[in-house]
Amino acid sequence: MNPLAVGVDIGGTKIDLVLLDTSGTVHAEHRLPTLAAEGPAAVLDRVADGITRLLQDAPGPVSGIGIGCPGHVDPVSGVVRTAVNLGWTEVALRQEVLNRLLVDLPIACDNDVNAAALGEYYFGAARGLGDLVYLAVGTGLGAGALVNGHIVVGAGASAMEVGHLSFDPGGRLCRCGGHGCAEMYVAGVGLIAGAKEHRPDYPDTILPAEAAPSDILAAARAGDALACTVMNEAAVTLGQIMACCASLFDPAALVIGGGLGLAAADLLIDPAQEAMRQRVLPDVADSVRVVRSGLERIALGAACLAFEAQRETNPCG
Ligand SMILES: [Zn+2]
Repeated sequence: MNPLAVGVDIGGTKIDLVLLDTSGTVHAEHRLPTLAAEGPAAVLDRVADGITRLLQDAPGPVSGIGIGCPGHVDPVSGVVRTAVNLGWTEVALRQEVLNRLLVDLPIACDNDVNAAALGEYYFGAARGLGDLVYLAVGTGLGAGALVNGHIVVGAGASAMEVGHLSFDPGGRLCRCGGHGCAEMYVAGVGLIAGAKEHRPDYPDTILPAEAAPSDILAAARAGDALACTVMNEAAVTLGQIMACCASLFDPAALVIGGGLGLAAADLLIDPAQEAMRQRVLPDVADSVRVVRSGLERIALGAACLAFEAQRETNPCG
């Protein structure tokens, strides 16, 4: 039987768990509410309960556990620092989960976007392509890169923080305190800010005063000039980020994911690819495939963190 691992995706609203084998077959799954307002201990209790339940359902021995978590996650120490949408400032994720389990299994932890990037390589749109960049366009903008099949972590576990890469230090104020960060143009917070900023120039817009990203997408598809301006800014900024990633990593695939990235794929991907093409060597642009995410859920990528850890400790296994 193929090796099994538990994958856990700790999201802002739900904890998603799968029992996965290395062929991609899901043997069991479970979902729990995150209820982050109850504090880290209660969330960790639920994570451990979910893992225990899947271990009980396992048809064979489980080799490890992978956990994807939002925020700044150090994969070496297993400590999460500053996970804003969970309200966590410093949580020893690996140790706290291990303390709550009755079995001693290796636990691999990483940022949820890195887990998704690895999942795209194992089971998603970039299957088998060990050099890839994954861009998660959601409320904010996250990214993960794989080089030769390995997640790029960085010296301080902060590699690929492209959401706060600024192309205009005099630009829009970001929630990080900086100005002109990419996510203030391309992600949900950016679309909302863009619609507000440009509204005075478009008195005839059909957009409501408090437009949500979904309103902006719908209005852009209906040809509304304000919404088109906002989406054009988003696409160009995404293209600038893609150009940076393509030039730095020469990836075989650039995978566009995230809730907004998928919902707006028809409006974003082609113009972003064109904006990238204008900014890189033709060979670089020609060699990268820009594709939509093909990973069904991040928990699958989280299980891949465990497979990967296993492979690194036992490369012949
Ligand atoms: Zn920022």
